[in-house]
Parts: sequence; structure tokens; C-alpha cells
Amino acid sequence: MSLNFETNLTNIQQLASNKEKENDDFISYLKSFDGEYIDKQVHLLNEIVSPKIDCTLCGNCCKTLLINVQEIEANNLAAHLEINRAIFDEQFIEKGSNGMMLIKTVPCSFLKDNKCTVYNFRFEGCKEFPAMHLPNFKDRLFTTFMHYNRCPIIYNIIEQLKLVLNFKE
Ligand code: SF4
Ligand code: SF4
Repeated sequence: MSLNFETNLTNIQQLASNKEKENDDFISYLKSFDGEYIDKQVHLLNEIVSPKIDCTLCGNCCKTLLINVQEIEANNLAAHLEINRAIFDEQFIEKGSNGMMLIKTVPCSFLKDNKCTVYNFRFEGCKEFPAMHLPNFKDRLFTTFMHYNRCPIIYNIIEQLKLVLNFKE
């Protein structure tokens, strides 16, 4: 297996643009495989790829994604920052009409020098991304490929998965 992973975000965005049709075909190809088998391959690749990619040199998820926030998470982070919830919400939270809360700005206000300044209090959505460790990969193809051009971990896992599954355009 090639260990020359692509980590340059400009290159990844260009490659992703060039591979749009290839990826549509790969998504169709993936659907013919057993879900548990695909999960196993993705999890193995995640163990190889993730340690080789330094998120502190990237930070692109924190720069581009509006992360979902739960009440308990907002309470805990506000307490950690020693500000009351009303001020916390005003500064950091965007509320939807259905009560859903998102972080207010991208890049995230808590990102400094590509590092999370509230790491121990970061939100579940932050911890979970890019979700390559989760089961049911085949149920998450839409969101995974939505982030393929922004996350070097996803990009490289998908490219390796094409090789593992002997996918040919
Ligand atoms: S999870 Fe992906 S997008 Fe986020 S910092 Fe790591 S490599 Fe970059
Ligand atoms: S809270 Fe931390 S991990 Fe989450 S988006 Fe902001 S900087 Fe990134």
C-alpha cells in the first residue's frame, strides 16, 4: 500500500474536482459490497491513515464546518470559560428556529494557531469528525463524500479504499 498521503488542501481540492465522475462511479461500486466488510476495510485504513496526518497542520474542519452544539455542551463550555450562558450564546452560538444550535462563526472562535483552545470541552461533532471510526460507513456516503475535498483523512482513506477494493474507472 502506498504511504504517500496527500495532505495539501489546495491539491486535494483540485484532485477532488477532477475526480467527481470517478467518485460517483466509486459510490455506485461501493453499494455492491457487504456493509460490514466495507466497515472493516475503512476502520483498518483509518488506523493507518489517521496517525500519519497531523490535524494541527490542517485544522480545515474547524475552519469550515458549522458544528452542532447541545445544551449540556454549551453549559459546560460556558462554565469553563467562566461566562454566563446568555453571554456565551450571544458570542458563540447561532440558534435555528427549531432550537437547534450551531457554532456562530467559521473559522471557529476557539481555534487559535490551528489548535482547539477548549479541547477538553469541544463538542461531540468536533470529536466525531471525520467519523471514519464509526460503523455503517455505507449509510454515510453522502456526508463522507461531501467532506472528501476538505479533509485529508477522508480523502486519503477513500483513495486507499479504491485500491483495496480494486476499483477501476
Ligand atoms: S479531521 Fe480532517 S479536516 Fe479536520 S484537521 Fe484533521 S485532517 Fe484536517
Ligand atoms: S470547538 Fe475546537 S475542535 Fe470544535 S470546531 Fe472549534 S476549534 Fe475545532
